[in-house]
Amino acid sequence: MAFDPAAETAHYIDSLGPEALQKAASYTTASHWLLLGGLIVAAIVTWIIVRSGLLERVSAKVQNRAWALRTGLTCLTYFIVSAVISLPWSIYQDYYFEKSYGRTSQPFADFLLQNVIGIALSSFLGGLFFLGVYALIRRAGKSWWLWSGGLAAFAAAATILLSPILIEPIFNAYKPVPEGPVRTALLMMADEAGIPHDRVLMFDGSRQSNNFTANVSGVFGSARIAISDVAMKQASLDEVKAVTGHEIGHYVLGHVWRSVLVIIFIAMLGFFLADRVFNRVAALFGSKAKVGDPEGLPILLLIVSVLGIFAQPVINGVTRMGESEADAYSLRTVNLPDALAAALVKTAEYRYPRPSALQEAIFYSHPSVEKRVRRAMEWKAQQLQKAGTR
Ligand SMILES: [Zn+2]
Repeated sequence: MAFDPAAETAHYIDSLGPEALQKAASYTTASHWLLLGGLIVAAIVTWIIVRSGLLERVSAKVQNRAWALRTGLTCLTYFIVSAVISLPWSIYQDYYFEKSYGRTSQPFADFLLQNVIGIALSSFLGGLFFLGVYALIRRAGKSWWLWSGGLAAFAAAATILLSPILIEPIFNAYKPVPEGPVRTALLMMADEAGIPHDRVLMFDGSRQSNNFTANVSGVFGSARIAISDVAMKQASLDEVKAVTGHEIGHYVLGHVWRSVLVIIFIAMLGFFLADRVFNRVAALFGSKAKVGDPEGLPILLLIVSVLGIFAQPVINGVTRMGESEADAYSLRTVNLPDALAAALVKTAEYRYPRPSALQEAIFYSHPSVEKRVRRAMEWKAQQLQKAGTR
């Protein structure tokens, strides 16, 4: 009987069983509603902070100090206070919701501790970034949005470069992949892609999440490939090879730079539109702040987050393209279509494999597992055909 990619694909997806598929569908849909919930929470937090006049008071307390100190302090206060007010929501979204679907086994205390560290870190970095934005508004005037888009790209590139060295080790332990056939295979693949051996790592992803993942992070000297211990435990040697082939694809094809370009474009557009509507939104919240006042940061960020939701389909479209290319790279170089399909099916537990076209276009950062498995099976069919005609 001839090899039928469609039937093979259906077989892979159905192997999850109706119950797991149903659970994945409900998890995926619920997590999309959480995006809307997050936006409503952001609006409420904005309202509370603006109406309380907190930022004006902080700024007034240090009004005789240098502009940079006043602005930086106001921004920092906003980030910390808004994170603290939204903490119950993030506990629900990032902990109880994940837990209710069995996606995490992290003890609550550990989650909370890491969350607090995350808040401190992001408040500091966010404060620093917006200090830069307000400096640009001061210096560049009307064209601030253009410069701020550039600043966003710079911040993104710096984060990408430094995150594997400074940020990721705070939350997870990275260590060399232990000796054995997996390590041997991974190092051979790393050699082909020109990645040094000490940059092929495994990390305790199981600390936060039961998701089957691997990732490439960093650039230049900081670039590295890391596989979660969850993937290491659940995957066969061939599956690890196929997944690593995908990750090396991202690295070799320079997808991270494409993301930086998208960030420049989206940030410029976002800041431009925010500039146009700022006064009207501020009035809605009863604030007299102008776009260049750090006291107006809650308003500015709310506008940017609402716009960000609308930009999501564009961003997702670009990342889906990269994911397809990385799959194709894995098939081309590692040529293990069945192992890739089997590994992909394991990620379907937290990304429903059969979304509607609309759902996929709007919300999916990866093409649906069904599509990806189908492409792997079509590749396999091609290979079989080639072997047959030889
Ligand atoms: Zn990927």
